Amino acid sequence: MYDRDAILAATDLAALADELLGPHVGSDSHPMWCCPSPNHAQTGRTPPVSVFTSRWDEQRWHCHGCGDGGSAIDLVMRSRSVDARTAIEYLVGRAGISSYPSDPNEARSSRIDGTHRSGERKLQLASDHAADLDLYVEACAGELWSTAGRPARRWLMEHRGLSEGVLRVNRVGADLGNPNLPRPPGFRRSGGAAILPVQQDGRAVYFQARILHPNPDRPRYLNPTADLAPNPKVSVIKPPERLHPETIITEGAVDALSAASAGFRAAAVLSAGYPDRYVALQLARLDGPLVLAMDADAAGVRGSAQLAEHLEALQRPPDILPLDGGDLNEALQHAIDWPQELADRIAAISPVPAAHQQLGVER
Ligand SMILES: [Zn+2]
Repeated sequence: MYDRDAILAATDLAALADELLGPHVGSDSHPMWCCPSPNHAQTGRTPPVSVFTSRWDEQRWHCHGCGDGGSAIDLVMRSRSVDARTAIEYLVGRAGISSYPSDPNEARSSRIDGTHRSGERKLQLASDHAADLDLYVEACAGELWSTAGRPARRWLMEHRGLSEGVLRVNRVGADLGNPNLPRPPGFRRSGGAAILPVQQDGRAVYFQARILHPNPDRPRYLNPTADLAPNPKVSVIKPPERLHPETIITEGAVDALSAASAGFRAAAVLSAGYPDRYVALQLARLDGPLVLAMDADAAGVRGSAQLAEHLEALQRPPDILPLDGGDLNEALQHAIDWPQELADRIAAISPVPAAHQQLGVER
């Protein structure tokens, strides 16, 4: 057991970043680093990561390109591809801290004199943010079907081939820079993005802003910072009417919406570079057979194999839908009758056990 706050207090994040990400670029007062996220391909000349002190007096890093960021522990995890325990042990060794707690009374008094209260404050702020975020997603969902939302509608429906029913039931929205949209604090005006929410129990808990026409060297997605809303890593996407027992697992929200357009429930993994046990646990809870439909590129194949291994360990071995090049959305765009084609392709790899047919799910 180690005291997380003590470890972070003993770590100078800028010095750690210099060690893990290479020497910084820019002045010592405004140092910048390359992004450690495996999902963020960087070509720009200015590295996108900076370090700041959060409102809870914790040093944090943030990538201005992809929105990734977090504490020193997250930086070790991301840059060294290790789990939280290993990252903490690394920082403990580096700072020369002894293990915790040494004295239970000391632990109790620290809870009374501040740690506990600051925990409450964090909880309060988090719930304010959750309300802001749900309000923003609701406003964007309205905006999509307004006159002003037409560019986002065209992108989603004409270019991506997604059905209106799927967009509505998943509260997909548009942010085209309307100054009256109630943007959550810290989330900048995007001016030309489709808003893809992650919903849990009917509330939006996270979203991704898919820039409609990004510059080639800029990221395609803007994500909220971890302070605003933690990335839930899995987004369950509903079809307007569920016609099949399988859940299609995809690399991103657009592919998941594509599967839902064919009447399948889908789950988008929002961190394809490293689908971990936490991702697998969330997926394993979903009923019915699981089918992996990750991209055909090297990263997708690797992510798919990792995820299959985690799911097998949880007694939920998935079927794998092979995509001959490209992704699920491209398959939709090339299909003549997408619901029929996807149903046929899934039926060919995933024989449905009798138990699932009794759930009243028709094929
Ligand atoms: Zn990044």
